[in-house]
Amino acid sequence: MFDTPIAPRLDSRKLCDAEQLISGFIEVAELPGLRSYLQSEKGKVEITLQFQRDDHRRPIVTGSVAVKGVEIICQRCLQVAEQDVSSDLNVAVVLDESQAEKLPAELDAWIVEDGQLNLRELLDQELILSLPIVPYHADCEVETQYGDADGEQQEKENPFGVLAQLLQKD
Ligand SMILES: [Zn+2]
Repeated sequence: MFDTPIAPRLDSRKLCDAEQLISGFIEVAELPGLRSYLQSEKGKVEITLQFQRDDHRRPIVTGSVAVKGVEIICQRCLQVAEQDVSSDLNVAVVLDESQAEKLPAELDAWIVEDGQLNLRELLDQELILSLPIVPYHADCEVETQYGDADGEQQEKENPFGVLAQLLQKD
């Protein structure tokens, strides 16, 4: 089902008018943003997307994207951990910002000026947002020996510390 590579450009109008269901894959290696968060380019994003128009004739794309076993650094033991990442899409294809502003809250805008979808761009952003903020092995063996170091780091990065300094100036 996911053995076809997704085309680099998709014609949103045609696909939505035809109510097309597409499935296929994109390699992690083709998503430079996501790749920059990972330890390797291992992994294939499996994609299922339904194109259609809603009651207001808006072009809508819904579906799911998922990739298994991408390699990311565990923040507890600092070794490579395999992580599954997935996301659901519910977007309206729009041509500019003013169309995007008119959308109801449950729809995300996907702005494509020429109506040609670059799915790689969208998924790159979408999957980065779906990464765990602090990745851990599900069964990480390192437990307490880094406890102190963690505490120190949290203190340095505490945003409220900065806020407190700003407030003190006033
Ligand atoms: Zn670990």
